Amino acid sequence: MRERIALAAVRRTLPARMTADAVAAMPDGLHAAVAGSGSPLPDARRGNSCLAVVAGPRVFVVDAGERASETLNRMGIATERIEAVLLTHFHSDHIGGLGSLALQRWVAGPARTPMRVIGPPGVERVVAGYNQAYAMDCAYRTAHHGEAVAPSEGAGMAAEPYSIAQESDSIVLLEQDGLTITAFTVDHAPVVPAVGYRFDYRGRSLVVSGDTSYSPVLVRVAKGADLLIHDALSRELLKLVEDAARRAGRAGMAKIFADIPSYHASPQQAADAAREAGVRALAVTHIIPPLPMKALEGPFLGDAPQRFAGPLWIAKDGDLYSLLAGGEGVERATMIRRGPAA
Ligand SMILES: [Zn+2]
Ligand SMILES: [Zn+2]
Repeated sequence: MRERIALAAVRRTLPARMTADAVAAMPDGLHAAVAGSGSPLPDARRGNSCLAVVAGPRVFVVDAGERASETLNRMGIATERIEAVLLTHFHSDHIGGLGSLALQRWVAGPARTPMRVIGPPGVERVVAGYNQAYAMDCAYRTAHHGEAVAPSEGAGMAAEPYSIAQESDSIVLLEQDGLTITAFTVDHAPVVPAVGYRFDYRGRSLVVSGDTSYSPVLVRVAKGADLLIHDALSRELLKLVEDAARRAGRAGMAKIFADIPSYHASPQQAADAAREAGVRALAVTHIIPPLPMKALEGPFLGDAPQRFAGPLWIAKDGDLYSLLAGGEGVERATMIRRGPAA
């Protein structure tokens, strides 16, 4: 009986899942869809970094960590809509999902051009490595399904490197049809280059920090933006993890936990950056350490809510932040439906 109900549920929900296109239903404006709000630390609730930015009909993806394509799929964001991926830096948790994202986009279209991957110098190496690793897979799929379904010219990725001039700390990457994308340097030393991105569309704006400690450049570039999405690491909670690792005799892990606060902002510093930049709303992401219980969200934020007067959210996978054209506020919704067939 239960099996018959399960099969009926699958039959009923499959048509909608096959045609899922959440972007088509979004009103005109800027939208940020969180497909990965975690870090390299294993986290059942959060995938590695990935954010889809929707500007009118256009879709860009900022970073593609592990689970990126799976979560985008659960959110109904059709991969064939992705115009380009923008990388912030080349840490594994920001690039580990590129291979499967390129594969999903390729066969979903099917795509007749490789997936564009835009980033600072180094993006060519990442893309060349992925293309080499996936070359056999792509050839198998074209041989199996044919050129019409898996066209060889659309397989893999194409790197588009850009440089930010030494004397400058930002560069406009795109200015077209009311959309402007700006890249700016952030401080994730010893990881160089590391950048964040600002998107402006029809009077609305959002800024993605990438991985950074408190960054004066970000504060300047983010001036007056509607929404700032900033990485955040709680020193207090991570210290608990570090101490536990040391007591367990895991000195190497303890050293890592002691090292990483130097190149990520705390929630308090993210709040300070938001206040100083005069942004309307702040969402913290790249959550370190994992928060397995909701009751840990208060301790994670500490006094960040006292430092920034606007709405302050802890980003979750599936979150959608919407900045409607002609509007003023930031609306938050969830795009992941949880149910028996989801
Ligand atoms: Zn990083
Ligand atoms: Zn990271």
